Amino acid sequence: MSGVKLDKIVKSYGSTMAVNDVSLDIKEGEFLTLLGPSGCGKTTTLRLISGFIQPTSGAIHFGDKDVTGIAPQHRQIGMVFQDYALFPHLTVSENISFGLVERRYEKAAIKERVDDLLALIKLEEAADRYPSEISGGQAQRVAVARAVAHPPSVLLMDEPLGALDLKLRETMQTELRRIQQELGITAVYVTHDQSEAMNMSDRIVVMNQGVIEQIGSPKGIYSSPQSVFVANFIGQVNVLNCNVTVQKDNITELEYQGQKIRAQHDKSLRQGTTTFLAIRPEDIKITPKAARKSQNSLKGVVSEALFSGNVMKISVELESGDCIKVECPPKLNSFEIGNPVYVSWLPEDCNILLN
Ligand code: ATP
Repeated sequence: MSGVKLDKIVKSYGSTMAVNDVSLDIKEGEFLTLLGPSGCGKTTTLRLISGFIQPTSGAIHFGDKDVTGIAPQHRQIGMVFQDYALFPHLTVSENISFGLVERRYEKAAIKERVDDLLALIKLEEAADRYPSEISGGQAQRVAVARAVAHPPSVLLMDEPLGALDLKLRETMQTELRRIQQELGITAVYVTHDQSEAMNMSDRIVVMNQGVIEQIGSPKGIYSSPQSVFVANFIGQVNVLNCNVTVQKDNITELEYQGQKIRAQHDKSLRQGTTTFLAIRPEDIKITPKAARKSQNSLKGVVSEALFSGNVMKISVELESGDCIKVECPPKLNSFEIGNPVYVSWLPEDCNILLN
């Protein structure tokens, strides 16, 4: 097992820059997820780490070893794909032991390893069944056990839960995370599903058009997105276009459509510049009267109110014509479409986005 380092990696196909100057330090034992919309370069990055494709420029290290240019079979990687790719004519046990037999492990060592892995994936009772006789979730657990049977330096997973229904997906997210943690293995995971990335990862790399937009913990990325792209990609957000009027210590005064807004943050902003202010819907309160002066408050009219079980989703049209999304528990909401209201939030719930 080892960490993985990508140093200024570029992969181009003609004029398409699939991956454009990506540097990344994946720690030993870390679960790191590449997240982003279709075509952003996630799979290409994973395939570069695997060695199935080679970079146009840049270097890849596994621990201290430079593996750039080295073929996949010499990199000691484990791979898991969406379609499981199990051998249909081999039993669960035989699928798991396949790589060990190839590598001429001793019979007793194979049996011990397979038994350990069957226990790890909780499939002892299915050892002698064929892939057609197990469920999708079970098949994916077998695929993981097979990928780690001969301990790899790094486990690479490309949308492994993509074929499963939502409920099973959520169970499998917990299962895969447990297996990765029990093995203490370095894992790189590709998904376009933000909640999956949030549930499973130590860190998330948000990619867009071949470049890294932001790297951080799930909580860090959600609560402090750096760009409009990341703020919009991870959850719901309100973005207001503001001008910086005064910055003093960690409080910035901004002007939004003639109204003053105070934001608490640690970024340095120049007076007179335009900036984007992001506020999450769950950080906004909706009230019939303006909030206290310590809060930011804007006047509007309820334009939409959706009940979605545990949460009420309300849209408020501001006097500027912009719409603010608010989420609150249903029992706190007594507003109807057309009601005049105020939306308010605290300076510390403001996020300044740099672009
Ligand atoms: P998805 O979620 O849809 O799988 P992705 O984020 O994994 O998308 P990639 O498959 O890495 O995206 O593709 C990144 C870009 O590189 C895309 O524009 C894609 O069309 C292009 N690309 C990938 N592989 C090739 C190839 N072999 N030849 C030409 N272009 C390619």
